[in-house]
Amino acid sequence: MSNFLAEKYNYLVPYVPGEQPQDRKYIKLNTNESPFPPPESVKKAVEERVDTARLYSDPDSNNLRQLMAENYNVPIEYTVVSNGSDEIINLAFMAFADEKNPLVFPDITYGFYKVVADLNRIPYSSVPLGDDLSVCADDYVGINKTIVIANPNAPTGRYLELSQVEKIVASNPGNIVIIDEAYIDFGGESAVQLVKKYNNLIVIGTFSKSRSLAGARLGFAFAAPDIIADINKIRYSMNPYNVNCFTAAAGMAALKEKKYFDENCKTIKENRAFLETELKKNGFEVIPSKTNFLFAKTDAVGGKELYLRLKEKGILVRHFDTERIKDYNRITIGTVEQMRILTEKIREVLEEKNNEKC
Ligand SMILES: *Cc1c(COP(=O)(O)O)cnc(C)c1O
Repeated sequence: MSNFLAEKYNYLVPYVPGEQPQDRKYIKLNTNESPFPPPESVKKAVEERVDTARLYSDPDSNNLRQLMAENYNVPIEYTVVSNGSDEIINLAFMAFADEKNPLVFPDITYGFYKVVADLNRIPYSSVPLGDDLSVCADDYVGINKTIVIANPNAPTGRYLELSQVEKIVASNPGNIVIIDEAYIDFGGESAVQLVKKYNNLIVIGTFSKSRSLAGARLGFAFAAPDIIADINKIRYSMNPYNVNCFTAAAGMAALKEKKYFDENCKTIKENRAFLETELKKNGFEVIPSKTNFLFAKTDAVGGKELYLRLKEKGILVRHFDTERIKDYNRITIGTVEQMRILTEKIREVLEEKNNEKC
């Protein structure tokens, strides 16, 4: 830290993203990226955009938003796009949370919420997940706070039924409810259509997980037009050209590849079922998941130790030091080949542990 950092940031503890190692080639199952490359048409669309890169991108991203609107069956006025959904999270917190409307989210959830709340000096509290690590909708009914729920939740993978989400939204008409659907394409039912019925609901999504564009940084949100206008007020005050021309082109091309998208999501679900079976066969307890990852633990080896041993063997998974979930690892679903290798390496670790005991 230099002597120049504004004092008001001394307290800030930044978010720690999952490792993106550049040295060694790992089987990377730690940041929930897609194992599938973007479709060929994305490459072509980005290339074609190079010639117009001297111009600023469209600050309203109208073409992309129009396509989003058609794909998700909402009017274009209900849409906004962003530099990753992380940016929308920040914009929404800035716009709709303060001392009078403090934030509330589950104790175990996406770690970025806390950091963004701190950055903006928004007070927050957390609601403990149930013993089975599920979000209980009743905990959020009529609580008069700005609510943020990742559904399905991360890193647990658990999903809250749409009727339960609606119960939360309907019972908090005086507050914004943000539903972060980063993983909704892997088996859950989206709350997107509810934005036409409730003017206090924001549904956030991303191209990072199911659409193979994590590095392109493209996120989006759906909400009533007044809410979108408020978000844009902040967005135009911060970064009006937040979606660059290459990302917009990539996003549009990706949206048009419905078949590729559906097939990839289906494959992830199949591979998830495969890995879940294998893990259970090897004595793991696995939380039921509607995402592209599994959250699992075993008595045979601690969470941190398993993470480290797999890393030595060339496989990266995600471990969190948080007390309540330190026994677990979050494992991204990859190709079936990757899942086979992972299973093999896990068996090796378990054998090593067993031998060390004797
Ligand atoms: C991955 C993730 C995001 C961030 O997505 P980006 O669009 O890549 O910024 C947001 N929320 C949750 C719950 C996530 O897991």
